[in-house]
Amino acid sequence: MRAVFPDFRLGNVLATSFTGTLSERHGDAVERIPVPHRLVDWLTVSGLAVESCTPAQLDLARELRESIHAAATAAAIQDALPASAVQVINDCSTQGRAAAILTPEGKRRWRLSSASCVEDALSVIAADAISIIAGERDGKLALCASPTCRAAFFDTSQSRTRKWCDMNTCGNRQKKARFNANHRKNPRSAE
Ligand SMILES: [Zn+2]
Repeated sequence: MRAVFPDFRLGNVLATSFTGTLSERHGDAVERIPVPHRLVDWLTVSGLAVESCTPAQLDLARELRESIHAAATAAAIQDALPASAVQVINDCSTQGRAAAILTPEGKRRWRLSSASCVEDALSVIAADAISIIAGERDGKLALCASPTCRAAFFDTSQSRTRKWCDMNTCGNRQKKARFNANHRKNPRSAE
């Protein structure tokens, strides 16, 4: 029998999809990569397929994830970047060997040095985090307005006024909460 694990929340930005594997950091936290094979699953759907993952590699991945979260949060509120987080991101970036490959269809694919090299995949994620924190890409780091979430996300909307890390989860929940509050205040308004 296989246990059921929480689904992934996948966005368009690799680094913040990765930090999203832990959600509700300020509420009832949901760990979406609780076991090594779930990290394998996440890497596979994120274009960084590896065949296996050890518990130590999962620990390293989570350390990178929380470091990206800390650095991206600091960048979003224009605070100084925490030195320890910067160190972990840089270590992960330099310790992997991944190569960008151009497919005949004109798409980019990542080629890792071996099928078991989680470190290679982490280096691609670290480099992605560096590019958004360094402000190299069109968009702005922001924090989710949900008080139990506060996830850092990369806002690429025209007006740069996106409030939620994810419209389908945090955004929707807030909409429902507002509806319920209005309904309580003025029960007849929704009839
Ligand atoms: Zn959120």
